[in-house]
Amino acid sequence: MKNVAVIGAGTMGNGIAHTFAQSGFKVQLIDISEDSLKRGIATITKNLDRMVAKEKITETNKDDTLGNITTFTNVTEGVEYASLVVEAATENIDLKLKIFKQLDEACPEDTILATNTSSISITQIAAVTSRPDMVIGMHFMNPVPIMKLVEIIRGYNTSDTVTKLIMDMSKTLGKIPVEVNDYPGFVANRILMPMLNESIETLYNGVAGVEEIDTVMKLGMAHPMGPLQLADFIGLDVCLSILNVMYDGFKNPKYAPCPLLVNMVRAGKLGVKSGEGFYDYSESRKAEKVARQFLK
Ligand code: NAD
Repeated sequence: MKNVAVIGAGTMGNGIAHTFAQSGFKVQLIDISEDSLKRGIATITKNLDRMVAKEKITETNKDDTLGNITTFTNVTEGVEYASLVVEAATENIDLKLKIFKQLDEACPEDTILATNTSSISITQIAAVTSRPDMVIGMHFMNPVPIMKLVEIIRGYNTSDTVTKLIMDMSKTLGKIPVEVNDYPGFVANRILMPMLNESIETLYNGVAGVEEIDTVMKLGMAHPMGPLQLADFIGLDVCLSILNVMYDGFKNPKYAPCPLLVNMVRAGKLGVKSGEGFYDYSESRKAEKVARQFLK
């Protein structure tokens, strides 16, 4: 495998493209939005510059990495030579089903189709293709170039051969793959999201403010980042979709998203990517507690 297509150039897609390109893969980075592609390449360049400044890589490594990435604006372009496609488009089931139908038609029959979904059923995505044995979850963590874990999710029909190939390939990227089965939220988000939701509920109930909640969890539980800051970092829209998938999947009210989270997403406060979530990420970068205005 030397040729990989990445669908989506947002928070995760640009990190995935960066990681493959830095490991010597030719990457076709595909997004329907020209703006996302520009922002994605700018983020990769900025992150590579930082690595050069820290002397982790050379200027030549940086140029080679950027040289390995080509951008496209149509899902069916740039995938015809891909041995692997990693889909990292918006967390929306209808969108993912549409993209996988398109990929199944456009890709060679031996192309492995992976998705970076945080929670959507791999089995359901695989079922819209003619190759369910070759569809797999490849759940990278944010920020992709730094985080070591990749959750490898086997759908109901994913073959042993494809699972082994993807596990081995993840290791060549310098990652540590962990194999899990296909149930809502898999392992990472099934455990993480209820904690993030509960911290939002704690804020919503007026038990404590944003910084207080984050400080308790950072200093008390030795978490490197507070849960509200982490939710901002993941994207509040992404957190909401994952909780909804688990709520629908298990039919268990313990996964019901907090109304404050729902309101913030409706108001366009999506966290770091929109410039504002529980904290303010505008130019001043002051950690303003914007969530208070949504409290009852
Ligand atoms: P994002 O909103 O930052 O980016 C999504 C990108 O998909 C956008 O650039 C959008 O233009 C693009 N897109 C939408 N429709 C498309 C289409 N038809 N074809 C090509 N591109 C399209 O989202 P994200 O946070 O990068 O999440 C992407 C995926 O990764 C989701 O499935 C999410 O659940 C998963 N994920 C996210 C995180 C995280 O921390 N944000 C972590 C792990 C996994």
